[in-house]
Amino acid sequence: MSDPKPVVTRFAPSPTGSLHIGGARTALFNYLYAKHTGGKFLLRIEDTDRARSTDAAVKAIFDGLDWMGLKPDGEVTFQYAGMERHKGVVDQLLASGRAYRCYMSADELDAAREKARADGHALRSPWRDREPGEGSNLGPHVIRFAGPKDGETMIDDLVQGRVVFANKDLDDLVLLRTDGAPTYNLAVVADDHDMGVTHIIRGDDHLNNAARQALIYQALGWELPAFAHIPLIHGPDGAKLSKRHGAQAVGEFADMGYLPEALRNYLARLGWSHGDDELFSDEQAAAWFDIKDVNKGAARLDWDKLNSVNAHYIKAADDERLTGLVAEVFAARGSALAPARLERLGAAIPFLKERGKTLLELADQAGFLFLSRPIDIAEKPAGQLTPEAMDRMARLRIQLETADWAAPDLEAAIKSFAETEGVGLGKIGPPLRAALTGGLPSPDLGRTLDLLGREESLGRIDDALSRRA
Ligand code: GLU
Repeated sequence: MSDPKPVVTRFAPSPTGSLHIGGARTALFNYLYAKHTGGKFLLRIEDTDRARSTDAAVKAIFDGLDWMGLKPDGEVTFQYAGMERHKGVVDQLLASGRAYRCYMSADELDAAREKARADGHALRSPWRDREPGEGSNLGPHVIRFAGPKDGETMIDDLVQGRVVFANKDLDDLVLLRTDGAPTYNLAVVADDHDMGVTHIIRGDDHLNNAARQALIYQALGWELPAFAHIPLIHGPDGAKLSKRHGAQAVGEFADMGYLPEALRNYLARLGWSHGDDELFSDEQAAAWFDIKDVNKGAARLDWDKLNSVNAHYIKAADDERLTGLVAEVFAARGSALAPARLERLGAAIPFLKERGKTLLELADQAGFLFLSRPIDIAEKPAGQLTPEAMDRMARLRIQLETADWAAPDLEAAIKSFAETEGVGLGKIGPPLRAALTGGLPSPDLGRTLDLLGREESLGRIDDALSRRA
């Protein structure tokens, strides 16, 4: 039976750096589960760590989610703005005896930790049993949660299954710091409750926090949300994803020429599956995605797979959009395309996209279109321009001059020229290609001539012919 309460998920990043693909996948799973259930997907920026939170990181999160196409429902919440509310929740816990002021000095804290370790349980403060009373203030103090000393806390995690924590191993965690600032575990519980979050889907590095948070929920008499702790993304070698595995930030994937829909598809499939389906639309992902199908084992980033998914979406992408995106790659490389060149690129895109795995590859493959004459011919292709090949190309040029300038006609003209000459295409193609592209990649010859246009093609052939001694 389905839960009658509408599903509310949230993505709760700390704005301390760029949006990583691990975070993007967490956001995606939250987004997809909300879509799957007809619920809401909320965004909360956890900016309580004032020293490490930056506006640039907030912007990077917004931009990253926007690029990924993961639009949150409703207003974005900023955790720091809820500080007074968080303190109010702590007052509630103090009033019910589920929190206490702790005046331990740093030395005392060390000693208490030592003792707790010797006694075989997590940290408790002696102040727990000597509550000085409402309103008393004996100087700097923190406020700690009075957790149960024995028994167990069970988390029925939707991905990890049942996870049991012995309460003696859960310390009396700090709720408010000496400066009155709420801690993560307190703020997260208060916010998730207030935002009506029903499903907390996040990285499994937070699994231990789930037990602490569950105890706070219980102490407040609040309904516990469902938890789903998803495995982190690992590198192809199985080690935790890090700089040495290459790109990590969503923006880097964009810069490497991946399409957002490809990254969505790839990341959704990373650690989650629907039968053998590798490629699916956003609608299918939303229809199929269920947390219970998320794997427990770590997911490994597989560049080949990502490239093949991206190639699929490049093929499927609208030509005009791709033209604009590839033009952006040229601009980012410092060679913005003037209108005439943009038009030439637009004509080439339907053919180039059949073979490119990334937008950068498409730009590389379009490079031959924009060379300035006389073009540089690399050493190896230049070797094709033997006197014999040059003479033949001069005769071919005469044939091409009268050909209809469209790929099939040009292809046919080359073929019939080869027949007339009594040679195979292998004697004609390589020198012609050298003259036309200088060795850069290009589609088949008829298409290459067509895309370059009559004037440019004949001009490049003439330039090559003029290299004859
Ligand atoms: N702000 C936490 C983080 O970025 C996530 C907290 C949560 O999802 O509960 O790791």
